[in-house]
Amino acid sequence: MRELWITPDRQGNSMSADSAESTDHRFMHRAIELARNCPPSSTAYSVGAVIVADGVEIATGWSRETDEKVHAEESALNKLDPDDPRLTRATIYSTLEPCSTRATANRPPCADRILAAGIPTVVIAWREPSLFVAACEGVDKLRRHGVRVVELTDLAEEAMSMNTHLDLG
Ligand SMILES: [Zn+2]
Repeated sequence: MRELWITPDRQGNSMSADSAESTDHRFMHRAIELARNCPPSSTAYSVGAVIVADGVEIATGWSRETDEKVHAEESALNKLDPDDPRLTRATIYSTLEPCSTRATANRPPCADRILAAGIPTVVIAWREPSLFVAACEGVDKLRRHGVRVVELTDLAEEAMSMNTHLDLG
């Protein structure tokens, strides 16, 4: 999926792939720092998320930030009006692939929340291993619905660094 890295920048200018990439890396590093705020859990990942629009951070979240079950992307989205017009041109950075199913039945999976918000671009650092959920299809689901998903695999190790207590196999 190497071609996903080299994408035109969002304004359609002739900005080089390198500078587009460094913006993504900068915000992913911010998401990784947020993931370090997560209260530890033996049954859930520590994840950080940042929502960016017009080049600035508009919301942040991390796992278990506001309650025991809240996910990072969910926590960030909960801080914005669902009708905030910036969402339709936003990028959400999440250290982990957004979930496509979740154990908390009364809460929609993060992939569904992102689709409902109309966010067109998702940047992740690592895909969910089949530890808590048999097969995470978050990326596939988002792509099927036309969301552009960028994977910063070079930051995967750093994004996983606060989850080493879990058996990541
Ligand atoms: Zn989730």
